[in-house]
Amino acid sequence: MESRLLEILVCPICKGNLHYDREHQELICRADKLAFPIKDGIPVMLENEARDLAAKPDGAAANA
Ligand SMILES: [Zn+2]
Repeated sequence: MESRLLEILVCPICKGNLHYDREHQELICRADKLAFPIKDGIPVMLENEARDLAAKPDGAAANA
């Protein structure tokens, strides 16, 4: 995924910057502790599709 695309993507909830998790193919909002999936190279910026990182503290995406 192009880093340029990532620059224009923001969290749909808090409008904050997202962190691209290349390994898991997710876009992470650290403020909301949500991980938005990237399906077939297309970010799914839907809150009800997002993975709740707070619910699973063992998530590798929590590496700050
Ligand atoms: Zn957010």
